[in-house]
Amino acid sequence: MYEEEVRKLQEIIDDSKRIVFFGGAGVSTESGIPDFRSADGIYHQQYKYMPEQVVSHSFFMAHPDVFYEFYKEKMMCLDAEPNAAHRKLAELEDAGKLSAVITQNIDGLHQKAGSRRVYELHGSIHRNYCQKCGRFYDAAFVKAAPGIPRCECGGLIKPDVVLYEESLDAGTIQNSIRAIAEADTLIIGGTSLVVYPAAGFIDYFRGRHLAVINKSATAREVGAELTISAPIGEILGQIKVR
Ligand SMILES: [Zn+2]
Repeated sequence: MYEEEVRKLQEIIDDSKRIVFFGGAGVSTESGIPDFRSADGIYHQQYKYMPEQVVSHSFFMAHPDVFYEFYKEKMMCLDAEPNAAHRKLAELEDAGKLSAVITQNIDGLHQKAGSRRVYELHGSIHRNYCQKCGRFYDAAFVKAAPGIPRCECGGLIKPDVVLYEESLDAGTIQNSIRAIAEADTLIIGGTSLVVYPAAGFIDYFRGRHLAVINKSATAREVGAELTISAPIGEILGQIKVR
């Protein structure tokens, strides 16, 4: 499948030494993690509250019980495994051809696949901190806690995930922009490029090759050399690292 597209992508990757991969929800859907914004994603399901509202800072503060009920069930997919896309990107980094993965996902699957330089724009479900004393808790603790997870000091534990109304981490933004600015190839995958400001980062790219791989058309004309409308794991899985 997609023979011609894969052949062109292979040429681009063979010609690259500093690839940066910028990925969104579509990278994880092949691992069974629901896409927030797609038609069959969890935003379109019925809840007492709208998911966008639940996953906001003010809602978290006002109704941590409802937040955690939703968050633990819908956003903490701890059994998910990396797919062919995650694995190939880790392989490219190992081979010295990929300098960074920038992701909008919070599931930690790139690290689980072996990627080391991963900039998580929206944080991670794997980091959780007590709001009172700052103590760290892992995802398993939060998921297993009955109701609202609390620190042994009594403080409320908050996931290090960027909620609505919260700003992205400045250091992560800086690192992402620097990686993109220094890349010779930028591959954008599994995102419809609708999430700002993250989507605006690609304007910093000055390299040779820009490729977009996404199941549905991207919302933004980015002037890509190669656009592939297909699931990303299916495409990257066919790439040879050499
Ligand atoms: Zn504490």
